[in-house]
Amino acid sequence: MTDRRHDVIDPATGEVVDSLPLAGAAEVDAAVARARRAAPEWAAATPAERSAALHALARRLAQTAEDLAGTETRQTGKAIRLSREFDVPGTVDNAAFFAGAARVLEGKAAGEYSPDHTSYVRREAVGVVGSVAPWNYPLQMAGWKILPAVAAGNTIVLKPSELTPLTSLMVEQACRDAGMPDGVVSVVVGTGPEAGEALVGHPDVDMVSFTGSTAVGRRVMSVAARRAARVHLELGGKAPFVVLDDADLQAAAHGAVAGALINAGQDCTAATRAIVPRAVHDEFVAAVADLFAGVRVGDPTDPATDMGSLVSRRQQQRVHGFVERARADGATVLTGGRLPGGELARGAFYEPTLVTGAARDSEIAREEVFGPVLVVLAHDGDDDALEVANDTEYGLAASVWTRDVVRAQRFTRGIRAGVVWVNDHIPIISEMPHGGYKSSGFGKDMSSYSLEEYTNVKHVMTDLTGAARKAWHRTVFTAREDLR
Ligand code: NAD
Repeated sequence: MTDRRHDVIDPATGEVVDSLPLAGAAEVDAAVARARRAAPEWAAATPAERSAALHALARRLAQTAEDLAGTETRQTGKAIRLSREFDVPGTVDNAAFFAGAARVLEGKAAGEYSPDHTSYVRREAVGVVGSVAPWNYPLQMAGWKILPAVAAGNTIVLKPSELTPLTSLMVEQACRDAGMPDGVVSVVVGTGPEAGEALVGHPDVDMVSFTGSTAVGRRVMSVAARRAARVHLELGGKAPFVVLDDADLQAAAHGAVAGALINAGQDCTAATRAIVPRAVHDEFVAAVADLFAGVRVGDPTDPATDMGSLVSRRQQQRVHGFVERARADGATVLTGGRLPGGELARGAFYEPTLVTGAARDSEIAREEVFGPVLVVLAHDGDDDALEVANDTEYGLAASVWTRDVVRAQRFTRGIRAGVVWVNDHIPIISEMPHGGYKSSGFGKDMSSYSLEEYTNVKHVMTDLTGAARKAWHRTVFTAREDLR
């Protein structure tokens, strides 16, 4: 361990929740070595054996649900309702899904694709996965990284954000309790530049799986590129929320509030840019402002609270900086937009913030804020709306709101993002893939697509002729008798 300790802070109160030693390169080395030793046996386990361990993990996580939810809320500041009703059940369901999926990895049927050979495909574990995760959904991110990797027969070393390591450590313990051998799942707690970079740059890590910001994702990719290691990147977003002129405006307003404020806006798929018809812009803004005013911001441990605090003072300052610069740029901040006083001053709280009148190419309309901030932009028809929706370097998530199925299809096809919702925004489900286009990264989490991410495809081709001289050899060399 390094000689430094790190305090995990409850951002809603500023109190220390726990204090941990920080891992450095030596601990990363040891964890990778354990993962390497465990890899052959885990890869050789039958799908049924891996499935049984994952079922046991799902049960264990369900048994400790309340502890997981409480710890998740304490280390992130997120409202306990979200931890209880979204993070924990979502992770339990993911574990149950991958317990099933571990047994149904499929590939092409074996066959004679050439008359002289039988071909088939083996799907094999990649080996040791090195994974780095962010602080916004620490428990779910631990699940998204660990579950498909181990279901497919890999071993994994996960580095959570040092701000929020506690539920990842609980998942590591739950994996042990579920009977997974030592080294199959290891969690190392350290900083990004030190432990994170040591992990993604480790020569014995076969695959790097990263979720976090686009800037750090680029860095991770360049470190992994030195040894041409396989990379899976889930990065930032700036999701458009497109309202067409036939939409149910009340439904859209409710959807925008839920989509923008989930996890206090610290969600890579959060609705951040509402793009609404000019004619109903003011009506939409008034409806959203009205709903924002009713959102209860406060003690995250109180089940009546809608929105807790941001993850840290630093994040609070970052979000506030974006809003201040938007104001200075000429945008109007209709609600929120200031550091709260009174009771909320003791934590990293930020009120729901509604911004209008921002230029389409302004920072607030383009950059990922990662806080409870919704920008409303006006559009002049479907073509214009689609252009604005796609005018971003990101491509993680989007939604379109309309009652016209034909227009909905145009947008689901036209928007360049990894998920497009119609008349909703946010829901995810274990069976369906999650992942980005463009600078939001590549590769998929959840679903059978993510299982494929964590496997290598090997083609096995077996000669059927038994001949010493095969017909195709003529294209390379002609034996003497061919000349006669
Ligand atoms: P971040 O990029 O700052 O950090 C992510 C992780 O990378 C942390 O564990 C950090 O310690 C580590 N890290 C930092 N520097 C590193 C380095 N040089 N080498 C290796 N690791 C390093 O992101 P964050 O602030 O923790 O999380 C917020 C970001 O994550 C947002 O951009 C959000 O959109 C993104 N995110 C994306 C998804 C998705 O599925 N696409 C999901 C959740 C969060």
